[in-house]
Amino acid sequence: MQGLRESGAHVPPIDFSTTYPLPDVDTGGLAYEELATGHDLGPGRSAVYQRLWQPGVARFEDALADLEHTEGAVAFASGMAALAACLIATATAGKPHIVAVRPLYGGTDHVLENGLLATTVTWAHVEEIASAITPQTGLVIVETPANPTLELVDLAEVVAAAGDVPVLVDNTFATPVLQQPARHGATLVLHSATKYLGGHGDVMGGVVATNEEWVRRLRQVRALTGGLLHPMAAYLLHRGLRTLPLRVRAQQRTAGMLAERISAHPAVARVFYPGLAGQDPAGLLGRQLDGPGSIIALELAGGYDAAARFTESCELIEHAVSLGGIDSLVQHPASLTHRPVAGEAKPGAGVVRLSIGLEDVDDLTDDLLVALAAADALSDAAPELTRTPTPA
Ligand SMILES: *Cc1c(COP(=O)(O)O)cnc(C)c1O
Repeated sequence: MQGLRESGAHVPPIDFSTTYPLPDVDTGGLAYEELATGHDLGPGRSAVYQRLWQPGVARFEDALADLEHTEGAVAFASGMAALAACLIATATAGKPHIVAVRPLYGGTDHVLENGLLATTVTWAHVEEIASAITPQTGLVIVETPANPTLELVDLAEVVAAAGDVPVLVDNTFATPVLQQPARHGATLVLHSATKYLGGHGDVMGGVVATNEEWVRRLRQVRALTGGLLHPMAAYLLHRGLRTLPLRVRAQQRTAGMLAERISAHPAVARVFYPGLAGQDPAGLLGRQLDGPGSIIALELAGGYDAAARFTESCELIEHAVSLGGIDSLVQHPASLTHRPVAGEAKPGAGVVRLSIGLEDVDDLTDDLLVALAAADALSDAAPELTRTPTPA
């Protein structure tokens, strides 16, 4: 593969080739064999076919692996494609049982709960992990900070409890800027690259940073199931990494100010933000997580009706799913991202999730105060004027 320096370009070129010329039949066959079994592209070898190897995707993977301190990384079309590959790899290796700690991203919870990929799940609290593990357990799955209410999980504790079972950490919310789970013993570090890594709301992708053995297994799954990252998406994700630390820290600074500014508002029953007093009982900030990040969850005092009114009253902060971009977003997890999640694990009806972007902190404060006033006004409104909850 031609390196960036040799290409003479300032930014990496985008290669859209679906196929690559083969020098001769023997070396073509060898290259195919190596790539289809999950090995790296050898020096001077043809990349054969885009489903087996793509130079821009490999560039993004190498950069992400550097940031996560892992031997390699494998990128996919989305975060869910990345998770699916991990589940397929473990189920087909005869270890279809998963031990998972809630809360998790709604889609992750749903695919584990419904067993679509031939896995079974035991939901466990951290202190129950060791006893939930069986000889068939292939993965322990945790997310920290967790979606949507930002619970923090002690990764060293999870890894110790998991013993020989590999631990998969969804690191989407923290990004490698704030947390590198492999340093705490996690085997697989998953990202929805759609969120902070891309950072601009214009590209979908997923990636798993891991050791060489898992890299080979995941590449094999990717080559056979085709959940590929497109070369244009790989370019945008790689470019996103260039500003990742600046974005993450600037968004975090604003989020911290907003969390403080609204925590005493009468319309707010509770602010979920790891940076607020009392919200990090295990002392993980500074030890495992280098900052509370830029997601805030709020529980509105007026329950569902107030949460709906708040969400719909935000203007600068757009009512839309997703997170981690430079534009602030707000959404209602119980009716949207966590809709398929079982009742007992579903976020409260009064909870909204904010993803804080790069807008001016005072403009964001104004937007929040207007929306909170609208939610607060509801508590005096006649019941027939309030909305009925969406059945979910
Ligand atoms: C969005 C998200 C996912 C799923 O990623 P997609 O790119 O939407 O497939 C997984 N985990 C977390 C924490 C997420 O926020």
